[in-house]
Amino acid sequence: MTIDTAFKMIESALHGQALTACPLCGSRSEMWERAEDGTAAKAVCCSHGDPLVCMPDDGIVSGGCPLYMPPEGFYRATYREAAKTWNAAAAEFVQMRAEAATPEQLQTEQSYADLCSELRQEREMLASVLQAVLKDPSNQEAISLAKTALGQATGVEQ
Ligand SMILES: [Zn+2]
Repeated sequence: MTIDTAFKMIESALHGQALTACPLCGSRSEMWERAEDGTAAKAVCCSHGDPLVCMPDDGIVSGGCPLYMPPEGFYRATYREAAKTWNAAAAEFVQMRAEAATPEQLQTEQSYADLCSELRQEREMLASVLQAVLKDPSNQEAISLAKTALGQATGVEQ
């Protein structure tokens, strides 16, 4: 026997719950209903499901936000319970992160989307300066630019 599962997004006007933004990536959160075997479970999910193609090596990030498909414990019988579970988990996560992070880490913390676009810019710049060096290996300016770009891309201090 196969289990017939259907997911449906519920508009906020219908569920009427205040939802905290995703604590992991800051994206909008959405209420979803999962219909399965005659029961309908509700869960709040992160709306960020697009793979971040600039970071193909990161197994978690490249599949979108981990909370796009939240764990089974987020599924509840009612909208109110689902919202409560999500909001409590989000608050706890933010609290845990605040306790774990040093002030310096908090300052440099960015959403995945910001990080993604920054990494892409860095890689593009790196590629262009490396090309300049390959074209003219004696060009001191290009070499110096490449060194700077490499330092930025790898986080190495100059
Ligand atoms: Zn998220």
